[in-house]
Amino acid sequence: MALPIEETPNRPLPKIDVPVYTIKIPSTGKQIKVRPFSVKEEKLLLIASESKSPDDVVSTVKQVINNCIVKGDIDIDKAPFFDIDFLFIFLRAKSIGESIEVNLTCNNTLDSGLRCGHTFTTNMDISKNEIVYDENATSDIKLDKVNGVRMKYPNYSLIKQLDESPEVEKKTKIILNSIEYIYDKNGIYSAKDYSSKELQDFIEGLTEENYKKLEAFVDSFPTFVVKLEADCPKCGYHHVVRYSDFIDFFY
Ligand SMILES: [Zn+2]
Repeated sequence: MALPIEETPNRPLPKIDVPVYTIKIPSTGKQIKVRPFSVKEEKLLLIASESKSPDDVVSTVKQVINNCIVKGDIDIDKAPFFDIDFLFIFLRAKSIGESIEVNLTCNNTLDSGLRCGHTFTTNMDISKNEIVYDENATSDIKLDKVNGVRMKYPNYSLIKQLDESPEVEKKTKIILNSIEYIYDKNGIYSAKDYSSKELQDFIEGLTEENYKKLEAFVDSFPTFVVKLEADCPKCGYHHVVRYSDFIDFFY
């Protein structure tokens, strides 16, 4: 059959418009414009989640977020980890949906003294999210009259890599990577100019009291959480759960 006259082979296919959303980056308050994931990006996320490799997942999350930024100023490699969690969940909600199916196991203790233990499926609404800040946290930590440490929030790759580290190493590594600079009466010593070993020696040379001040900063990092509320269908117990790790939420 002959082609209709207006149809020209080899003409590029039309581009279909996608919605664009304006959102505010939590750490800076700056606005950026983003578009939802395309099918290509959903595929990348699926491949990464099937690979079960944390490094692949982290780099894919970062790549996909970068792809979806239409306009605006954010450095995905340097941004604090909670900005990335926030952006990822926002894009997930706009692209795939705001509802995620999760399984909960009821830990309510019944009148009989036994644990309910019932496992049920419920839906989490990821638009019910917030960043929880500790108002007492300070990034300028004085070690004595003249010496101090200026702290910063680590980036996403670092926090996710550390999830794999043993607990005892994890705290020191997080502290080490949260130092922006050390200062004394002579000036500042930028952490990026020193090796991990030098910074680790510095941290391990601190008194317990000063170490605790650094520890308090990392223990009070802002966290991005999604709140889930659900009633157990068996015993009726009202569950309130706060999720803060989203790496499993691709599909
Ligand atoms: Zn129950």
